[in-house]
Amino acid sequence: MKNIAFALILLSSVNVFARSTSSASDVKSTLSEAHKKFKDLKDGKNADYIPALKKVPSELFGIALVTVDGKVYTAGDIDKQFSIQSISKVFTLSHVLQESGEKQITDTVGVDATGDVFNSIVAVEKNKGHEMNPLVNPGAIATTSMVKGKNADEIWNKIINVHSAFAGRPLEVNQEVYKSESETNQRNQAIGKLMEAYEIIKTNPEQATDLYTRQCSINVNAKDLATMAATLANGGLNPVTRTKVIDQKHVKGVLAVMSTAGLYDNTGQWLFKTGLPAKSGVGGGVIAIVPGKFGIAAFSPRLDDAGNSVRAQRAIEYITEKLKANPYDIQPRGEYVIGKDER
Ligand code: GLN
Repeated sequence: MKNIAFALILLSSVNVFARSTSSASDVKSTLSEAHKKFKDLKDGKNADYIPALKKVPSELFGIALVTVDGKVYTAGDIDKQFSIQSISKVFTLSHVLQESGEKQITDTVGVDATGDVFNSIVAVEKNKGHEMNPLVNPGAIATTSMVKGKNADEIWNKIINVHSAFAGRPLEVNQEVYKSESETNQRNQAIGKLMEAYEIIKTNPEQATDLYTRQCSINVNAKDLATMAATLANGGLNPVTRTKVIDQKHVKGVLAVMSTAGLYDNTGQWLFKTGLPAKSGVGGGVIAIVPGKFGIAAFSPRLDDAGNSVRAQRAIEYITEKLKANPYDIQPRGEYVIGKDER
């Protein structure tokens, strides 16, 4: 009897493994299908509160997937560069965890979801600058202010270097977007000041907001973003360049904050559908991480009301479902024992 039970357990674990293993041609065709399926979706609109983002062609649509063993799959507009925007928050957070440890974040901006829009001032007021997280603007501007350096240049070099290491190539700032957002970021400047008033920002808030604006203007393509996501999926080691970007011990914290706050006030809906830690940006990019397996990114400029790319979300949802990548989508193990209560 014992042997039969053991055999059943073994059998079911083989099935679980088979379920999660997709061949290269499955992955390639799934990406192409997703592109085809959603390329004509016209819902949403480009971000317009940053004038330069209004001008980005709305029809652009690219998808990329990078596995933890460094294989790259793509579909659509893959070389087109766009500004990383809020997705940068993930990588500056990663740097601060690496440089100063997790208490630097948990004791200051915290790791709780606000449930409010990404640039909410009410959220700051309600929580006196605490109990938010590094993926909404107040927490993100404060997180940028925590990057150590003698002057703005030294801090900026660390920020651009960590982004480049995640992407596996030297990244640059989109100067047009940086200028455009710098001219219109009065709200973020106010948030920076408020975070100083609550003594979370302890350095110069104008400098922190400027560096934050610059990090949001970093240019990436969908493949860069997928490589950045795959580096997190691979425990901090870039699977394409094989270089360690952050210590493995910090990755789980980054993924936890992405799971609760990566798509702002729509994160619950997203997690319900995909089960994946993810992050969006108003430039139209979205990344998602399947821990231990792959990183995925999609880009298309039209956004929903929460500021998340409509096509990118649909594409990633579709691919996650097709590749059976939702970690909460569990196959029961073993067989039920006859005679036990059944429901
Ligand atoms: N730079 C943008 C801002 O601060 C980023 C917002 C976003 O991508 N959600 O408003």
